[in-house]
Amino acid sequence: MSSFLLLKHISCRSFSTLPKKKMPVKTINIFCNSCKTKLYTYRKGGKGALVKCIEERIVKDFTNKDYKCPNCLKEFGRPFRLGKRNAIKFIGDRVYHRK
Ligand SMILES: [Zn+2]
Repeated sequence: MSSFLLLKHISCRSFSTLPKKKMPVKTINIFCNSCKTKLYTYRKGGKGALVKCIEERIVKDFTNKDYKCPNCLKEFGRPFRLGKRNAIKFIGDRVYHRK
């Protein structure tokens, strides 16, 4: 009986802590590399180069959701699935970001 309660306690705990997992809070702005038009405001997690972005972390979307720069119409990324999430993989150096 006591081991059952313990198991139940553990599973409840791990379940309730999952949604509380902190989202990355650092926001960056992503720009088109050829005409400097702002494309996204994005919550970036971790350090390092920006090679992809997860759509649910986009704070503001300035594009027409066709993965092209709304100003110079240059394609900057390709959509792909990251697990159950929609993500965008950026093409080469078509974009750059600033804090
Ligand atoms: Zn552009």
